Amino acid sequence: MNYNFYPGPSKLYPQVAGYFQEAIDLGILERNHRSDSFQELFSTTKSLLKSKLNIPLDYEIVVVSSATECWEIIAQSFILNKSYHFFNGAFGEKWWSYTQKIHSSSEAISFGLEENPTLQSVDKNAELLAFTHNETSNGTAILEQFQKQLRTKFPNSLIAYDATSSMAGYEFDWDLGDIWYASVQKCFGLPAGLAVMVVSPKALNQAKEINENEHYNSFNFIIKNAQNNQTHHTPNISNVFLLNRLMQNVENISAIHQNLVVRKDLFYNEIQKIKKLNSLVHSNEFQSDTVFCLKGEVDVVQKLKEEAEKEGIILGNGYGDLRDNTFRIANFPAIPNQHYIDLINFLLRFDKMN
Ligand SMILES: *Cc1c(COP(=O)(O)O)cnc(C)c1O
Repeated sequence: MNYNFYPGPSKLYPQVAGYFQEAIDLGILERNHRSDSFQELFSTTKSLLKSKLNIPLDYEIVVVSSATECWEIIAQSFILNKSYHFFNGAFGEKWWSYTQKIHSSSEAISFGLEENPTLQSVDKNAELLAFTHNETSNGTAILEQFQKQLRTKFPNSLIAYDATSSMAGYEFDWDLGDIWYASVQKCFGLPAGLAVMVVSPKALNQAKEINENEHYNSFNFIIKNAQNNQTHHTPNISNVFLLNRLMQNVENISAIHQNLVVRKDLFYNEIQKIKKLNSLVHSNEFQSDTVFCLKGEVDVVQKLKEEAEKEGIILGNGYGDLRDNTFRIANFPAIPNQHYIDLINFLLRFDKMN
C-alpha cells in the first residue's frame, strides 16, 4: 500500500489522471487563454468554486501561480504603507518578511501556539491585517470566534487569510475575511502550479483606490482580465481544468469539513494511548482540522519515520524550528478514511514495539 500524509505537495485525488486525459482529449490545453473555450472553462470553474465552497456571490475569484505570489500581490496592490502580520509559525513569519521587503514598516506580532493573536498594539484604522488561517508548520488554526471579534473590532481594515492548507477542507465564514488564498497542492489535492485568490468587494475597492499598476501581477490588471474570464498571462490551463472537474465532483464543503472533523477527533483520541508521542498543541480548539502535528524525542521521531517508510507510509517532516522533534500528518479530503485507521494502527504498533 502507498500512504501519503505529507501536507504539501500532498496526495492527489485518484480522479486526477482521468481528468488530465480528458483535458488532452478535449484539446483545451492547446487553446489560448483569450479563446472562447478557455473563457467558458474559467467562468464555470469560478461558479463551481462558489457553489461547492459556499463563497458569497459578490466575491471575485482570480487564479495566480502560488501562495507565495499572493504574498507579493497583496503587498504590492492592497497595502499603501503598512500591514500587521500575526503569526505563531514559519509560514506566517515568511509572509511578513516578504511583505517587509516592499513595505519596510509592516509590523510583526507573534503569539503562542495555544492562544489567540493579541490586538492591543494595532492601529484602529490599520490598512490590512494578515493572518495564516491554518499554520501548516505546526498544525494550529485561527478560531472562528476570534475571526468574528476581529471583524467587529476593525471594521475599516482589510483582513487577509493565508488558507493554503485549509481552503477546500474547512467550511469558512467568508464574510469574516476580505482576501483568502491557497495554492492547490495541499488541501485541494491537485498538482502544484496554481493558486486561487478569493476577494471581497471591499478589498476590490481598496485596490482600485491604491491604483497600483506597476507589475505584470498588479491586482488591478489581474482582476480586469478575470472579470472577462481571461487571465493576465497564459495560466496553468491543465490545473484550471483539473480544478473544474474536481469541483464538479466533490461534495459540498460542509459535508467535506464534517468528515475531516470526525477523522480529527478519532485521531487525537487514539493518539492519547501512545506513550512516546504527544500532540504539539493540547487544546482541541487550537488544533487544526486539516494538519496534525505530533511531538516526540528526536530519536523516537527519527525511528518512527524510518519504520513508516518501510511500510510505505509517508509522514510529513517537522518544519523549521520543529524539524527534528515533530512530524506532521495531513488530514486532507483526497486521503481516504481507511488510511487514517491504518495509520493509527501503525502508530499503536510502533509504540508497543519500541
Ligand atoms: C505551502 C504554504 C505556502 C507556500 O505555498 P506555495 O504554493 O509554495 O507558494 C504558503 N503558506 C502556507 C500556509 C503554506 O502551507
